[in-house]
Amino acid sequence: MTRGKETIFSKIIRGEIPTKRVFESEHVLAFHDVSPQAPVHVLVIPKEALLNLTEADENDEALLGELLRATDRVAEILGVRESGFRVVINNGKDAGQSVDHLHLHVLAGRPLAWPPG
Ligand code: 5GP
Repeated sequence: MTRGKETIFSKIIRGEIPTKRVFESEHVLAFHDVSPQAPVHVLVIPKEALLNLTEADENDEALLGELLRATDRVAEILGVRESGFRVVINNGKDAGQSVDHLHLHVLAGRPLAWPPG
């Protein structure tokens, strides 16, 4: 169980690392990725640390819904709602999850290739 684990995102949530915030609500924070892979590259995270989808349980269902809805809010704020955006969750080792705190990537601002690498 890694719920509540301290990661770099904990520091971002507490404001200890300067980050360009896009959107914030009681449970959710969205901020620009430090290493953008597209003109718009934002991370949407729960403020309460949760490792990933594998660790989520039925008590997290409302939160998971909030996170998904927040991606559309981010797209609206950054003006890419009409042009379209991609939401990616790298879940676990083979997917390349590098931070042990659930995060949704919102990518937009250019045509995005499919399939991903
Ligand atoms: P993952 O590879 O786990 O799906 O994505 C982690 C993401 O977090 C990466 O895109 C990486 O650039 C981003 N990231 C890691 N450390 C920081 C940081 O300190 N600030 C910001 N804004 N993004 C970070």
